Amino acid sequence: MTNLSQVSDSEQRVLIVGAGFSGAVLARQLAELANIKSLVIDSREHIAGNCHTERDAETGIMIHRYGPHIFHTNRADVWDYVNRFGDFRPFVNRVKATIDQGVFSLPVNLHTINQFFGTNLSPAEAREFIEQKADTSITEPANFEEQALKFIGRELYEAFFQGYTKKQWGCDPRELPAAILSRLPVRFSYDDNYYNSSFQGIPAEGYTEVVAKILSHPNIEVRLNTRYEHDMAKSFDHVFYTGPLDGYFDHRLGRLSYRTVFWEEKRATGDFQGVAVMNYPNPEVPYTRIHEHKHFTPWEKHEATQAFVEYSKETGPDDIPYYPKRLPADKELLAAYIELAKAEHKVSFLGRLATYRYLDMHQVIGEAMDFVERWLSAKENGEALPECWQGL
Ligand SMILES: Cc1cc2nc3c(=O)[nH]c(=O)nc-3n(C[C@H](O)[C@H](O)[C@H](O)COP(=O)(O)OP(=O)(O)OC[C@H]3O[C@@H](n4cnc5c(N)ncnc54)[C@H](O)[C@@H]3O)c2cc1C
Repeated sequence: MTNLSQVSDSEQRVLIVGAGFSGAVLARQLAELANIKSLVIDSREHIAGNCHTERDAETGIMIHRYGPHIFHTNRADVWDYVNRFGDFRPFVNRVKATIDQGVFSLPVNLHTINQFFGTNLSPAEAREFIEQKADTSITEPANFEEQALKFIGRELYEAFFQGYTKKQWGCDPRELPAAILSRLPVRFSYDDNYYNSSFQGIPAEGYTEVVAKILSHPNIEVRLNTRYEHDMAKSFDHVFYTGPLDGYFDHRLGRLSYRTVFWEEKRATGDFQGVAVMNYPNPEVPYTRIHEHKHFTPWEKHEATQAFVEYSKETGPDDIPYYPKRLPADKELLAAYIELAKAEHKVSFLGRLATYRYLDMHQVIGEAMDFVERWLSAKENGEALPECWQGL
């Protein structure tokens, strides 16, 4: 039995499980908009969830501990919000890919096309050229592979998508839903900015400092190394849960499937690969990509360097869940867990894990901001409290 009596005095009103961006923004918005007090707990020994960054003690390089994170959004309110709490410096992610034929620019753009096919095509010519490559016999793509072939044809698909997808998801692309590749994955210009967003950057002192500032409010208490247990709920008016949905129910219906990633670290002096992210789509290469973290802070100078070779695998019970697989069986299980969640009294489920979606930082921040407004308005008007199950 967990005793939270020392924190359950009248000052503490809501419990927020998870000190990632979702939990931090919830706590701050509740504090600022309604003067609500919260206790934020996290089972880890640090705040910021998977966005946690820290300087390496030896090299001084800012390391993204759970994989590289680049902030990007089209929402001006979300951009203004994060800039209240951090000094976001301009950063454009220009990803490269090493394949047998050489090093190419990603996402596939006019440079990639002209280099790959040995052509000198204009944007209009390239569009026509790729349209001819595309498999027009596919009208209703049934899976990821068919979707890619319909858009870009076999050569580009095999060179840049097939092997990478197999490694990342651990299955044949024909087993994955077409929706994973929902838009045309090619640009007919030399724009090699990985993201299409209006606002983009990386905080000068890392994401953990940003989250620490969001959490720094007299109404917010943070308790680390504290795992949620159900008997904690009774000390609070409401629980906002941002951990894994199946974990909340002790996996009683089974486990939602995720892919996880792990890294092999390489330390060197100088420059390891000359770019922040290098992808390796070739199926014979066992890893998916290498990220070199000092390139995420081009405004800093470091003699040493740290590169992380990234591998992908199935998520075991002790691994960190990263990418929700959302296969048909997962969606059935998810629907069953949502029914259980809807029956929970005074608990809201938010964030990437509790709603079992891949969500970027700007999305969880935006959702938390919007959710607090809807939740406060529903409370004030005596309406049913909102849920966060959209787009499932
Ligand atoms: C490899 C990788 C790269 C990414 N790159 C980008 C990127 O470039 N740009 C971008 O915008 N987004 C990126 N993302 C997405 C980003 O990590 C998420 O949007 C963000 O972490 C979501 O925040 P969250 O608070 O919902 O979840 P999390 O960050 O996962 O936080 C949830 C927290 O809840 C805690 N918790 C869970 N269960 C319990 C429990 N029972 N009790 C107590 N605490 C609990 C966890 O310890 C965790 O700290 C990337 C994700 C991955 C996997």
